[in-house]
Amino acid sequence: MRAVVFERYGEPAEVREVPDPRPADHGVVVRVEATGLCRSDWHGWKGHDPDITLPHVPGHELAGVVEEVGARVTGWRPGDRVTVPFVCGCGSCPSCAAGDHQVCERQTQPGFTHWGSFAQYVALDHADVNLVAVPDDLSYATAASLGCRFATAFRAVVQQGRVAAGEWVAVHGCGGVGLSAVMIAAASGARVVAVDVSPEALELARAFGAAQCVDGTAAPDTAAAVRELTGGGAHLSLDALGSPATCAASVAGLRRRGRHVQVGLLPSADGTTPVPMARVIALELEILGSHGMAAHTYPPMLEAVRAGALRPDLLVTSTITLDAVPDALAAMGTAPGAGVTVIEPWS
Ligand SMILES: [Zn+2]
Ligand SMILES: [Zn+2]
Repeated sequence: MRAVVFERYGEPAEVREVPDPRPADHGVVVRVEATGLCRSDWHGWKGHDPDITLPHVPGHELAGVVEEVGARVTGWRPGDRVTVPFVCGCGSCPSCAAGDHQVCERQTQPGFTHWGSFAQYVALDHADVNLVAVPDDLSYATAASLGCRFATAFRAVVQQGRVAAGEWVAVHGCGGVGLSAVMIAAASGARVVAVDVSPEALELARAFGAAQCVDGTAAPDTAAAVRELTGGGAHLSLDALGSPATCAASVAGLRRRGRHVQVGLLPSADGTTPVPMARVIALELEILGSHGMAAHTYPPMLEAVRAGALRPDLLVTSTITLDAVPDALAAMGTAPGAGVTVIEPWS
């Protein structure tokens, strides 16, 4: 099969022929029809992810068709349309037994712990626990975007953030996950303040339901701007970018008893991220993490997509081929861009 491979961190990836993957007895091989390009792929390529060993094939937001099924898989057969969360559970550890597959103690992540979906085929483990059926009327490109950014945003806003109608929700960073969070929070009846330094990203945020926008280049103290616009601070605030500055701004923009959800990855290369804990104590803030979303919690999200209340398809702004991935991956560092780029490995 053809795949995007890199041999050294930060050096250009290339597209070449590699052996087709084989399924584990509990796994499947999926023919990749669409896969999203995400900033996490860039972090992996730069060497920020300790799970990756070289040479490596990135890619973790995918949808496709089951091609081959391991001997112990009972719930899936060749031809099924599927997607998968980017965190795959083992199905048998204490966290999985509690339904928290997104923090599985023996988790696998395609594109990180093993070769991913910037390829024509990808192997996925513990298929009976991790695969999600893609409805016939949902395109592969849209379904691919559910695996990481959209599901992560859904869990951050709805499950971890416990958003309620009428609340103010601040979203710091309006890339793929941030725009998804804006859309999900607005659809939940919240009033959203979108924060970014890109006018293009803020334009999209407004289109996806943001009631207010803060341009970080015009208003460098974004937390003060959020407190001003929301009459004292957001009830719920997300750092959807993942940087010490946006994390601190998100916490500082909360009102009393507000909830901060850290969604954007904070690479270990940046060291430990400082959080203003004095403010956390004095205002009784909650600090929460969000790490993907378990496959068995997808149905309410898929139902909202089916009903048209959520439109992940609107986040897909460009479609590229495998051959365009090396350059696009390198560009994610300086210009992550607004919206989602989808790769179609067979085009
Ligand atoms: Zn587990
Ligand atoms: Zn991702």
